[in-house]
Amino acid sequence: MSLPARLRTVRARLTLWYTAVFGGLLLLLGGTAFILLDRGLRTNLDDSLASVARAVAASSEAGPANLADTLESMLGPEAAERFFQLLDPFGRPDPRLGARGRWTFPLSRSALRNGEEGRETFESIRPPGTSGGEVRLLTFPVIEGGRVVHFVQVAASLDRVDQALARFLRVMRSLVPLALAGAALGGWFLAGRALSPVDAMVAAARRISAEDLSLRIASENRDDELGRLAGVLNDMLGRLERSFATAREFSADAAHELRTPLTILKGELELALHTAALEPQAREALESCLEEVNRLAALVEDLLFLAVADADAVSLQRAPVDIAALAQEVEPALQVLAERAGVTLAINAAAPTVIRGSEPLLLRVLFNLAENGIKYAGAGQRVEIAVRPDAGNGLLEVRDSGPGIAPEERERIFDRFYRADPGRPRSGTGLGLPLVRSIVRLHGGEIRLRSEPGRETCFQVRLPLADLPA
Ligand code: ADP
Repeated sequence: MSLPARLRTVRARLTLWYTAVFGGLLLLLGGTAFILLDRGLRTNLDDSLASVARAVAASSEAGPANLADTLESMLGPEAAERFFQLLDPFGRPDPRLGARGRWTFPLSRSALRNGEEGRETFESIRPPGTSGGEVRLLTFPVIEGGRVVHFVQVAASLDRVDQALARFLRVMRSLVPLALAGAALGGWFLAGRALSPVDAMVAAARRISAEDLSLRIASENRDDELGRLAGVLNDMLGRLERSFATAREFSADAAHELRTPLTILKGELELALHTAALEPQAREALESCLEEVNRLAALVEDLLFLAVADADAVSLQRAPVDIAALAQEVEPALQVLAERAGVTLAINAAAPTVIRGSEPLLLRVLFNLAENGIKYAGAGQRVEIAVRPDAGNGLLEVRDSGPGIAPEERERIFDRFYRADPGRPRSGTGLGLPLVRSIVRLHGGEIRLRSEPGRETCFQVRLPLADLPA
């Protein structure tokens, strides 16, 4: 059986453990106290029975009247009647006491035997013929000249002991749940306090992403387990940051190194295609080479841009750009793409939406998103582009009725070279969306993705509107 999610936290488990251990200890203590109380009360009762019996034995020689007085003064008139008995050495009621002693307690064999040996006997019995509770009975032999002359029996009700024990149990029954509730609350509070640095660390660790590995987990210079954990995590983040930086530097360096030879290659190929008299087959091969070189060069440019953006070294040439006008401008080119793909394209960009930014980069955002929509929606589907001002932002929405993007891919598609579902069209590099996100962030905006697999995908870009003079 699995626990509900709330109870699976360390805090809840600590609280449960704490309460369970506390409850166990409470039961152990309560049980011990109960046993000790029971013993103490019985010992007290036995002691008082013994002192009564001795007094009775001492005064029994003086005659029954004296005996009765002694008893009354010790036990009170009622108890003296109920719980006292004088027996002859054979266990028969002693006639000297007359009508006193309402009940006759049987003289047990062990009491008789003990008596003959001069020893007293304590027994817990139920008075015969009554429905009352148990009584404690002391049979005390009175010995003269080495033989038992009679037995003194003194009894006391165990009701008081039972009542005291019952009261103790009642108190325990009402206190234990209260104490347990207090322990659970206290445990919850203490566990929360002890674990609060962990929550802070989790929140800090969440803020750290691949894009911002320079953040560190604050440990408030703690010299405890949590401080050490924060230290280890921070060391690990340091190593991660260094290795990410190395990978970025590598891709930046590689792109940089590739740029020149690719430019030369491109130039040579173009020259050859324009000037040389070529066999049709050779021309075809060269054209195909040129196409691939162009693709490679574009990829290298994108990589370089991303590397520069990573290093926060992009110098944006900002100017007011109306992205609604931009969308209308690229509409013909996009319509050609859409037609080729059998997709219906609609652009809704009537309201001027001016932001401050770099026109070529913003064009790239618009084009990449629209191209993806057209490419992945597939023939017979619809792509809608909408541009409008929205609550201080310029809003660009590219919506398509294509296959959608699975929830587990929604973050990954912004990773470099990541391409979802390999069954989909292969043209493309996997750099389009990372580039779009990088450009949007450079402009102080954000990109969001909503998608219902099998129904639609919608990329939403928000960019702060320019403050234009009124
Ligand atoms: P690519 O060059 O592969 O298009 P992108 O970075 O532009 O690279 O996109 C990354 C992946 O995201 C794509 O391979 C595709 O699987 C997925 N994707 C992007 N846009 C859409 C869309 N509109 N509908 C479905 N999948 C998309």
